[in-house]
Amino acid sequence: MQFVETRGNDGSSRDKVSFSEAILSPSASFGGIYAPQTLPSFGIEFLERHLNSNYKELALGVLHSFEIDIDDKTLVEALARYDEFDDPKNPVPLVKIEDDCFVMELYHGPTRAFKDMALQPFGYILAKEAQKRDENYLIMAATSGDTGPATLETFKNQDNIRVACLYPHGGTSDVQRLQMVTEEAENLKVMGVHGNFDDTQNNLKALLASKEFKAELEERNIKLSAANSVNFGRIIFQIIYHIHAYLELVRMAEIEMGENIYLNVPSGNFGNVLGGYYAKKAGLPVEKLLVASNINNILTDLIEKGVYDMANRELIKTESPAMDILKSSNVERVLFDKFGGERTKELMDSLNSIGRYSLTTEELASIQEDFVATYAEDDECEAYIAKYAQQGYIMDPHTATCMKAYEKCTPKDLKVVVYSTAEWTKFSTTVARALGATDIDNDTEALEWMKNNSSQKVPKMIDGLFLKEIKHSNVVDAEDIKDEMLRFLN
Ligand SMILES: *Cc1c(COP(=O)(O)O)cnc(C)c1O
Repeated sequence: MQFVETRGNDGSSRDKVSFSEAILSPSASFGGIYAPQTLPSFGIEFLERHLNSNYKELALGVLHSFEIDIDDKTLVEALARYDEFDDPKNPVPLVKIEDDCFVMELYHGPTRAFKDMALQPFGYILAKEAQKRDENYLIMAATSGDTGPATLETFKNQDNIRVACLYPHGGTSDVQRLQMVTEEAENLKVMGVHGNFDDTQNNLKALLASKEFKAELEERNIKLSAANSVNFGRIIFQIIYHIHAYLELVRMAEIEMGENIYLNVPSGNFGNVLGGYYAKKAGLPVEKLLVASNINNILTDLIEKGVYDMANRELIKTESPAMDILKSSNVERVLFDKFGGERTKELMDSLNSIGRYSLTTEELASIQEDFVATYAEDDECEAYIAKYAQQGYIMDPHTATCMKAYEKCTPKDLKVVVYSTAEWTKFSTTVARALGATDIDNDTEALEWMKNNSSQKVPKMIDGLFLKEIKHSNVVDAEDIKDEMLRFLN
């Protein structure tokens, strides 16, 4: 299958590329990204065929349907990364929390956040492609918390790949920071940067755009790639678990084959819910995709009113920091899928020049055929965390945003799958406070409080973090990032 550019082609490169090309160089013409030219079918026939497949068998079936140019041996080895999850047979448990509501837990991998679901196998494939071509790649990530650890974890000790990860000093949770600064591998570099996440991300963008830095990379024979969800290599692995959730409900006799369900996704960069959109479009029986946000509710406005407006907004820090995003990159792939490259370019150009765009009435109607959205504020999320804890289920603040969507956006009597994107241990301070802890202001105290006041266990990869040696103690000013990077690359 070929991949095409979301904003059309500028004539300087081919207008269609293979999967391996799209993942190695994920930037397309006019600042666009790559999207599949067509979609396979994941309708009833595919579902019947995979009714008895385990997760890895289903994953292989999905990957094969996309006819990607990665050999089977590499795919099988990439999927073997799921063997390191808590339950190798089923890396994504589905837990019933209401008669009609089920939580699919996407956080049972090494960094306890859903980023592992895609980054683990994707990172393996990207590294193998780089090695096969004998090319060297640098992957740079600015992270507010979960992307950094998962990116470091997947690429550590992989030949031909170097990863540099920038985080805002003081802007992550203790657990998230420790997950990064204790990673030990020759090919990894982690830097704290003075300033907030926006500053860090802008500094990284400026560096990546600088001619001087590009020349330095060329001199060293290093190419740039990216591992955030603009890379389709991540999205493809985020289609699989939506199909798996559906099949699990059929196997549990909660639904009949063919019955519609709601998919309810805590959204930031829109990668997770985009996977659900592609699955629906390819035939999975989905009534609507529920897009849950926090107070940074730019997606709610888009889906309810057809207006995407960054110009009149400031980013607000919340207790679900992985969803504190205004520029949600993967919306572009939906626009492209529905309205084509020319219109997508027009809308994205408008976003870049005046910070906003508006859809037409027909376009909005088309978006609303697939999506419905709402948002929950921090105090509402804490109330949901407390409510479900009382019923015996502990959820993290990101997952909690979905419970408002569950109550508000499901007019039909259909089953709902909520996607849980982080284990509570990554956001223990918020969770402990929601459960009634007072005087807790760091993760160490919060984890201890939870051990004493709930039946929850803390997995060893979280507990052990506090004893590990710090390997990356650099905290730099923005203007020193480049020099630090060059020292790392030499
Ligand atoms: C990344 C992340 C999200 C947002 O996912 P998108 O695919 O960017 O929409 C939500 N919750 C957690 C915990 C995350 O790490």
